[in-house]
Amino acid sequence: MSENFEAKTLDSLINMPLATIDIKDDCGITDVPQINSKRSNESEWIKSDEVKKRKRKLKDYQPNYFLSIPITNREITGGIKILQNAIIQQDKRLAKAMVTDGSFHITLLVMQLLTEDEVNIGIDALLELKPFVEEILQGKHLILPFQGIDTFGNQVGFVKLAEGDHINTLLEIAETAKYIFQEKGILAGENRSFKPHLTFMKLSKAPWLRKNGIKKIDPELYEKFINHRFGEEMLYRIDLCSMLKKKQNNGYYHCDSSIVIGEKNGGEPDDAELVRLSKRLVENAVLKAVQQYLEETQNKKQPGEGNSVKTEEADRNGSDRDNNRK
Ligand code: AMP
Repeated sequence: MSENFEAKTLDSLINMPLATIDIKDDCGITDVPQINSKRSNESEWIKSDEVKKRKRKLKDYQPNYFLSIPITNREITGGIKILQNAIIQQDKRLAKAMVTDGSFHITLLVMQLLTEDEVNIGIDALLELKPFVEEILQGKHLILPFQGIDTFGNQVGFVKLAEGDHINTLLEIAETAKYIFQEKGILAGENRSFKPHLTFMKLSKAPWLRKNGIKKIDPELYEKFINHRFGEEMLYRIDLCSMLKKKQNNGYYHCDSSIVIGEKNGGEPDDAELVRLSKRLVENAVLKAVQQYLEETQNKKQPGEGNSVKTEEADRNGSDRDNNRK
């Protein structure tokens, strides 16, 4: 991560309401101005400590969640499967580098949500995004036409969006989303400009390919599709998805929340949404009960006795991150 991004994000973090709360929670500091010189020295020390903490936070910034626009139009996904098969026919080993059926999407924003609380803040931010998207669209549909192929450094193969105004609209939605999520104190965004793309293969899915001499996606592999029109997708949903959690049976990512765009009454939640909601309610109730029990029993414990629930949660998050990537 570059110095520039660190400085920019550090600035926005300093202005974020949640960043202040985090620091207060971490070490019991408030933002009350200090008056005498002893206090002023302490305040300087505290300030530099805050900055160090924030820098550490940024150094550890590893996105694990993202906003996804699912791509489900059969014409597009069918065309991508034909493209993938055409590539595999030229080199069977590349089969392992292909994005699997059901998971085609456009990434609107990446972010880091490490705790249940942060995921809940992310869910709130997504809900907040909905009226902004509808304001940007002004009652019109956003149609995304896909045409042609490109790569990121010959490592990631993707279908491009055709030129047109829809790109600016998508950029505006992505910028708005970044602003809303960052305003809520979430570490979100990347140190590069947003380039909407529909990934169909990436060499990082099969790192052993490098050892077998496949270090680049050869442009010859997809030359027949270089200007191919894959079809159009209408923006109808934005999902908050995990990069690391087990995918759904249909091949799509685990989603913690979704917004539907352009429905008059916001749409009825579907069955999957209801299951997710009730699961979350039960989990929260259990967690609260455990916390209450721990608080009640804590006073009876000797100092130094720990809270095993927190440790297990932290361990689980850590190992999840190591085992699965998007
Ligand atoms: P996604 O389709 O969002 O899963 O992205 C596929 C891969 O492309 C990921 O490894 C991203 O890190 C990478 N990627 C996304 N945007 C860019 C970009 N603007 N430049 C280079 N690589 C990118």
